[in-house]
Amino acid sequence: MPRLLILGGTGEARELGESLAGRADLTVTVSLAGRTARPAAQAVAVRVGGFGGAAGLAAYLRAQHIDALIDATHPFAVTISAHAATATAAASIPLLALRRPPWRPVAGDRWLNVADRDAAVAATGSTPRRIFLALGRQDLGPFERAPQHAYLVRSVDPVDPPLQLANATYVCARGPFSEADDRALLGAHRIEAVVAKNSGGAATYSKIAAARSLGLAVIMIARPAAPAVPTVETVAEAIAWLDHDHTLAAAKDRGV
Ligand code: NAP
Repeated sequence: MPRLLILGGTGEARELGESLAGRADLTVTVSLAGRTARPAAQAVAVRVGGFGGAAGLAAYLRAQHIDALIDATHPFAVTISAHAATATAAASIPLLALRRPPWRPVAGDRWLNVADRDAAVAATGSTPRRIFLALGRQDLGPFERAPQHAYLVRSVDPVDPPLQLANATYVCARGPFSEADDRALLGAHRIEAVVAKNSGGAATYSKIAAARSLGLAVIMIARPAAPAVPTVETVAEAIAWLDHDHTLAAAKDRGV
């Protein structure tokens, strides 16, 4: 039976697994990096942990007789996406990237678009402000260079060790959040600016909508460049690629 590997860690990867779980013509495994202590449940088989670089991933694809790879990782997870492109070329199997479109500003948004985390730190300015960091734990370190601000940090798992910042408050919570919840959170902490990555998707948009309704500035970190590989934006398009773009038919022709 053809074997599909999904590189996951996103809601889209989980939804894709759910959509494919009942299929009798396909064996599906989702791969997680292992960053989250209690990851959300998946509907298909799960493997956890790094592969050991692009060469390790290529070796895994061959050893597990994987016929197609869908890279459904987060748009900011650039290393694993680059490895996916290199490894699938080495293993001669098809690759599809499932990547949600970025958010676009709408009327009322006060976005300052910046290229990366360092530019976001610089954009916070020298005047002390109350700032909500809606970022992953691995993104927070550079903000230690701007200790003049008071920070509110929300993350799924505790930030451990805490940041070297005198004025930081931590909230542990797993989304999705509602706009009303985030408005209440930003209001309760008298937040003046939000720093966010342009992740796209509905699950983490609430803070952007809440900032808009409160008239707050958002320092929006642009997406890094993605590898030039076939890319779709929705789970339905990814399933169509599997079913209609001859990906599975080609695997069956090879006698899988
Ligand atoms: P990254 O910087 O692109 O990858 C770093 C290393 O982590 C990779 O080289 C690989 O290790 C391992 N890795 C990453 N994703 C993996 C996966 N799905 N399965 C197995 N190994 C994986 O990744 P990241 O930005 O740290 O993100 C890690 C995971 O969290 C991703 O799966 C991503 O979808 C999810 N995530 C990331 C963000 C974000 O903002 N970056 C947000 C939400 C969710 P080896 O080289 O050893 O193979």
